[in-house]
Amino acid sequence: MADIDIRATLRGAGLRATKARCLVLSLLLEQDGPLSHADVVQLEAITAAGLDRAVVYRNLMDLTEVGLLSRTNMDGVWRFEPVTGDAHPHFVCHDCGIVKCLPDGAISIRATQGTPRSLDGGSLSISVRGLCDLCV
Ligand SMILES: [Zn+2]
Ligand SMILES: [Zn+2]
Repeated sequence: MADIDIRATLRGAGLRATKARCLVLSLLLEQDGPLSHADVVQLEAITAAGLDRAVVYRNLMDLTEVGLLSRTNMDGVWRFEPVTGDAHPHFVCHDCGIVKCLPDGAISIRATQGTPRSLDGGSLSISVRGLCDLCV
């Protein structure tokens, strides 16, 4: 994603641009897949900044509430990622569990007779499973 003014983004969403919030949001913007709370807690920059689990959690929830992050339940784990326009599919490795964002259009779904109407464009959460490049 192009340069984003993190502080302005936070203020625009009605949040105070605290150090912790700026860090959490900028780290999530750097990822190529959604992260769980536990993943974020383990990021080096988070440990280096001395942010504990509770602080990280509160910031993730604040950012989700104002719509800067989306929260999706994947395999029973809530994962967070920046909201970047359109919904896109995800790839889940069933060996190591890594989750990557797939480009919009990597998977196409066609509504046919008998499928729920929401298949046709609705807000779907799609994930495909397989082995990632490291696990094949
Ligand atoms: Zn894997
Ligand atoms: Zn994604």
